[in-house]
Amino acid sequence: MRKIFRRSLFPFFATVLAVAACAKLKPGEVANSATAALPPVIDPGPPGGPPSDAIVLFDGKELSKWRDSKTNAAGWKVENGYIEVVAGKGDIFTREHYGDIQLHVEWAAPAEVKGKDQGRGNSGVYLMGRYEIQVLDCYENVTYPQGQTAAFYGNAAPLVNACRKPGEWQAYDIVFHAPKPQTDGSVRPGSFTVLHNGVLVQDHIPVKGPSTAASPFKDTTAAGPLMLQDHGNPVRFRNIWVRKL
Ligand code: MG
Repeated sequence: MRKIFRRSLFPFFATVLAVAACAKLKPGEVANSATAALPPVIDPGPPGGPPSDAIVLFDGKELSKWRDSKTNAAGWKVENGYIEVVAGKGDIFTREHYGDIQLHVEWAAPAEVKGKDQGRGNSGVYLMGRYEIQVLDCYENVTYPQGQTAAFYGNAAPLVNACRKPGEWQAYDIVFHAPKPQTDGSVRPGSFTVLHNGVLVQDHIPVKGPSTAASPFKDTTAAGPLMLQDHGNPVRFRNIWVRKL
């Protein structure tokens, strides 16, 4: 009987004790009681957000939270509730820097199809200005896997191609954890989880280096601006918001 207890019940009781020790309950408090601290209440907003605790980076009207590669106003076109890349005006950056975030951004490739491969509806969403989730029109357009729509560019192909037709609005929902510089000089990798049009395409992919990594990963900061890429194609963006994690 003792042997049976040790083998079958001991692990159970050990787990219960461990959970109780970790829960840090106040004296007299029980798990799931009405007095336990509850998560904050937020308004999730309409489908696609923004939730009430989000920072809205583009509300369809103006680009005051964005700049060019220096500190000047972003030069992209704003009309009908969206931003459109103006070729040659350059990439645009948020004025504020972000590390770990949840990001929602909607985009549309040009309805009129021009070019092929990487030349068709190319733009990009760069976390910290350096880790690109590719924006590309891959609807019946073939390119290399680590450069297609929703790829972590140069690092990880998406699990599936969930592209809508050119001109149709598409959504990225991105959970990004920044690489973290450590006191010993090393860098703890970050991670990307990405949904494209609600479909999981990057499943907790490690972020070990920039999209254009040609040398060993060196990073000295845990935050940076969000960047949208001018790749010469008139790609549109709307409904952009972040939640700091
Ligand atoms: Mg790109």
